[in-house]
Amino acid sequence: MSNVARNIKQIIAHLPEDVALVAVSKFHPADAIYEAYNAGQRAFGESRAQELTAKAAVLPADIQWHFIGHLQTNKVASVVPIASLIQSVDSLRLLTAINSHAARIGKVQDVLLQVHVALEETKFGFSPDEIPEAVNLASRFNNVRLRGIMAMASNVDNLSRVRDDFSLARNTFLYAQSLLLPQMKPHFTILSMGMSDDYRLAIEEGSNLIRVGSGIFGNRE
Ligand SMILES: *Cc1c(COP(=O)(O)O)cnc(C)c1O
Repeated sequence: MSNVARNIKQIIAHLPEDVALVAVSKFHPADAIYEAYNAGQRAFGESRAQELTAKAAVLPADIQWHFIGHLQTNKVASVVPIASLIQSVDSLRLLTAINSHAARIGKVQDVLLQVHVALEETKFGFSPDEIPEAVNLASRFNNVRLRGIMAMASNVDNLSRVRDDFSLARNTFLYAQSLLLPQMKPHFTILSMGMSDDYRLAIEEGSNLIRVGSGIFGNRE
């Protein structure tokens, strides 16, 4: 068994049943993705439009591609036809562009709202108090479907800070849920948080979708 396959099996063996795994394959070649695919993994995360389209073109069609990086509106047209879930919607402008392009190709695009809970100003996302406006806009769109919230914790060693970030993200999820129109509620089920170094903590704080890269594919140089 390859290291990639072994890593995936080990992670999945310890996941609670209601927690799903996205294998973050950014910067790793198609060969590595194949190893994960052959181990049964189907959901992969990419953070760059060009890399996503190049890989999707040569890899099996039943892969579910999650877009997890900052998405510029001029790249929306290349991502929407491929992505099963765009996790990183971080502005009203991007939400609007996704809806427009999805309408153009006759798709309803599943999305998560990215919420900014970390210390680092460099990270993207809505602040919790901007969530009502985003939910409100999404509720007027026919071609995006809000599936939940995505967040990244602060990149610090202080575990209590990381836990607080995840806790705020979960509270933001519950807040957003409370704002939804009744017909939107059944779809709003995903709380995506936790990466290689912090996914166990994220699960304790309510995550049901983790995004693991280096813990599966090793460190990228
Ligand atoms: C790169 C990335 C991950 C995976 O990070 P690892 O530490 O390699 O597991 C998860 N989420 C997002 C948004 C990322 O950009």
